[in-house]
Amino acid sequence: MTGIDLSGKVALVTGASRGIGAVVATRLAEAGAKVGVNYHASPDAAKIVVDSINKSGGEAFLCGGDVSQEEAAESVIKKMIEHFGNIDILINNAGINKDQLLIRMKPEDFDSVINVNLRGAFLCTRYVMTHLIRQRSGRIINMSSVVGLSGNPGQANYAAAKAGLVGLTKAVAREVASRDVTVNALAPGYITTSMVEEIPEDKQAQILAKIPMGRFGTPADVAEAVIFLCSDGASYITGQVLTIDGGMIA
Ligand code: NAP
Repeated sequence: MTGIDLSGKVALVTGASRGIGAVVATRLAEAGAKVGVNYHASPDAAKIVVDSINKSGGEAFLCGGDVSQEEAAESVIKKMIEHFGNIDILINNAGINKDQLLIRMKPEDFDSVINVNLRGAFLCTRYVMTHLIRQRSGRIINMSSVVGLSGNPGQANYAAAKAGLVGLTKAVAREVASRDVTVNALAPGYITTSMVEEIPEDKQAQILAKIPMGRFGTPADVAEAVIFLCSDGASYITGQVLTIDGGMIA
């Protein structure tokens, strides 16, 4: 637990109904930020995250919408600003995977993975940016993956989306650096959420053997990096990709 204070900041976490996003939202609230909890298909789970933050003395707002759709993404940002009066931090975390070997991959499964992981981050960034530029401060963090850096068989769509996020991060970081808005990406390795729990046990053992630290990461490992990149201490860090993988692709 870090002593970073984000009181007075407003943060939107996309895809915060479970997994990494839920823990990131909770951790941001613990650090003092007011938090928007975005979801698409799981309103009940997202409400549990919001209620838990509010019960613990934090301030959370349920903010649904499919980030891959232009109108929905714009409306999520609008609702945040209407509700909190401001926004400082955007965590583009919403993501899906539809794994299949390339020769069997349906074009629609390529498109949907690109649309949620990459287009969703573009749209939310697009609609929040005018606000951040005007206030001359802000933080954007894109949830990429080690798979976007190294590739992975069966994940051509997901790897392309996550590599795309690296390009998006670096291009936008350069565009808005003079306005003191930082844009960075995190590249987690294997983190214990449903995405990893769905991997068959024998495959999990093979993956573990390739992780120098000998364990999967936790959502909290990712959340601590988010908190640091949102802090004042990280104000000169932009356009970077921070790998959180127990040394896997070191
Ligand atoms: P997860 O448990 O499957 O959660 C995904 C979240 O994204 C859910 O809250 C889901 O909410 C939301 N979501 C999906 N489609 C959405 C849409 N169209 N609009 C808004 N929200 C949407 O995944 P996770 O493991 O926590 O992963 C979170 C992020 O980290 C993803 O971007 C993932 O690619 C990345 N990542 C994960 C790992 C890992 O090992 N777990 C490693 C590297 C990177 P609803 O159910 O409400 O739609």
